[in-house]
Amino acid sequence: MLGSNIETPEIAILGGGIGGLAAAAFLRRAGLRSMVYEQAPALKEVGAGLVVAPNAARLLRRLGVMEALLRGAVRLDVGWEFRRWQDGTVLSAEDLATGCERLYGEHTYTVHRAELLEVIRSAVPEETVRLGNRCTTLDLGGERPSLRFADGEVVEADIVIGADGVHSVVRGAIAEPRPAAFSGLCAFRALVPGDRAPSFARRHAQTLWIGPNHHLVHYPISAGRFVNLVAFAPAGEDLVESWTAQATIEEFLLEFDGWDPRLVDLIRAAETPGRWALLDRAPLPRWSRGPVTLLGDAAHPMFPFFAQGAAQAIEDAAVLSRCLAEEPADPARALRRYEALRLPRTTRLQAVSHARSDINHLPDGPEQRARDASFTENDPLVANGWIYEYDPDVAMAAETAAG
Ligand SMILES: Cc1cc2nc3c(=O)[nH]c(=O)nc-3n(C[C@H](O)[C@H](O)[C@H](O)COP(=O)(O)OP(=O)(O)OC[C@H]3O[C@@H](n4cnc5c(N)ncnc54)[C@H](O)[C@@H]3O)c2cc1C
Repeated sequence: MLGSNIETPEIAILGGGIGGLAAAAFLRRAGLRSMVYEQAPALKEVGAGLVVAPNAARLLRRLGVMEALLRGAVRLDVGWEFRRWQDGTVLSAEDLATGCERLYGEHTYTVHRAELLEVIRSAVPEETVRLGNRCTTLDLGGERPSLRFADGEVVEADIVIGADGVHSVVRGAIAEPRPAAFSGLCAFRALVPGDRAPSFARRHAQTLWIGPNHHLVHYPISAGRFVNLVAFAPAGEDLVESWTAQATIEEFLLEFDGWDPRLVDLIRAAETPGRWALLDRAPLPRWSRGPVTLLGDAAHPMFPFFAQGAAQAIEDAAVLSRCLAEEPADPARALRRYEALRLPRTTRLQAVSHARSDINHLPDGPEQRARDASFTENDPLVANGWIYEYDPDVAMAAETAAG
């Protein structure tokens, strides 16, 4: 690494996931250099899809990677199409085709995770990403923070950004080290090859089937070459949290026994599913300590029920880079500002995402009927406006104006 200089501080980013790479890309755009340390021998993402809502699309466009992303992205006509588990009755839907861009200036897309990671990586110089570097400890006792790696190497930096996911090492140095709690839920994930998927699942729609204790989401990705399935169900006792745990189609089918036959056929057409426990963490009261901060899932892991985790990591990256660029000589102050700007929003998203698991999983009965009736009260595309309209530049201008 280059020597430390007050105008160009040395910035170490731990973690080369969507959040860490987005941070490196936005810092570069702001004229700051950083080095990413990733434990995996190659940059990779799980073989699954992701919704890119307008708030994320806006920032990916700013990074200059939207054109590349659109090569594989699917432009959705319908978002959050809630259907009843038994017969597919549509309870609610966002009309993205006519409303999304008009309201928010950006559209909603679905993408393969690997494609998203790759386009963000393309905005980061290759030599600034070090692979196969697993950090074991962060030491805050010296003049500068230092990271110790599994191979014995020690790296000092002026600023450390912990983008190292839900089991973050950096988080443990900022907050009381505590393992993430088990939520009692598990997620099944699978891809269905496009040519085996029924036509209703190939529509440019994000469809969400809700029923007792379960829900299942599907949408096309990779220019329609696959349909992405992700389903949530009660977990057994023995589930470990892992991105690689395999399940069988039979186990997956068992969870959705008796559901609409179209859904059952879709699961039957899927490739081998993955299954893992969903972890839970309460919001943190603070993310930063001196020149060290957190970003993405390391700071605010959230249930995926608003499809916003990666989007929030990208927003963090945009705000953090501007805060540091505006005050490179005083990182602790810049990070306090970053945290104050971001924490209320991500805490709110953690809370609403959490609440959604109860709402989506109501057993049939009076509460479920009241929920279904309430779906017609609001246009969901407008009700979710506080999520989709967010622009870090506008938020920062408002903060400056408020003094
Ligand atoms: C089922 C499901 C569906 C989802 N759907 C959506 C969606 O539709 N839209 C959306 O926006 N979000 C979605 N999310 C959320 C999203 O996947 C996450 O919020 C996002 O991937 C977090 O990115 P991150 O970079 O913060 O963390 P991670 O992706 O966890 O990356 C952390 C990186 O740090 C590395 N690392 C960890 N520890 C160390 C160490 N000690 N040393 C070095 N490197 C280390 C890891 O190898 C990894 O590469 C979903 C999540 C789930 C579970």
